[in-house]
Amino acid sequence: MSVHTPTAPTVPRWSALGPIPGLAALREAILSIRRDRKPKWRFRFAPDLIVELQPWDEVYRTVPPDRRPESEALWARYYRGEITSATLRAEEAALMAAFTRLFRGDSVIGREDVTQFDKPIPPGAPYVRMPFHIAHLHGAAGWQLWPGRWQYAYGTAGREGAPSSQVVVPEAFGRLQEALSPDRFASCGPEIMFGYNCVCCGKALTDPASMARWVGPECWGTSSIRVPWLVELEAEASR
Ligand SMILES: [Zn+2]
Repeated sequence: MSVHTPTAPTVPRWSALGPIPGLAALREAILSIRRDRKPKWRFRFAPDLIVELQPWDEVYRTVPPDRRPESEALWARYYRGEITSATLRAEEAALMAAFTRLFRGDSVIGREDVTQFDKPIPPGAPYVRMPFHIAHLHGAAGWQLWPGRWQYAYGTAGREGAPSSQVVVPEAFGRLQEALSPDRFASCGPEIMFGYNCVCCGKALTDPASMARWVGPECWGTSSIRVPWLVELEAEASR
């Protein structure tokens, strides 16, 4: 199956998002218990749209997209020999801002038969796979959605006659953006998403990955951080 990966930006580098209170509460609950066992949940938002989300906690500095032209101008001056690398570094650092990475995510859009993120996607219908992260620019009110390096797979029918990535990818990204709405996650707080005792043996759970699975590692047989089921949020959204 041929896969098309981008050479030019097809989707915005970042977009405004949320904040999503349900997800924020879930993330806070996990980080307050322990920070090294962050579970990965899978959500289905539509028959052909699944998303994986993992709470994350990392501060980084980067040039925000709205200041990228200034950064590009600095690099152009550096390449023309007008400024030194020390000046480039100092002036670019001044354009940077601090972000917290709140969630790491992945998504598959266009396939009803795909339910996993840890297995290769079998040949079949075309799809877009779009990794992303959700971040918070320090000092800003909302969150930001940062798409990662997407892939557009043409499917078994092949490239011939397939719609262009310039059409398919922005549409897929729009669906992802729409799916990550506060309403969708209204019922996803810790009280719903966490079990505090193992449903098999009743033992108290203290590991967020086990709590997300509602079963302790001894009863489950593995200590995987992946929650073994898909959370269906499409019904919630259409209430
Ligand atoms: Zn147990």
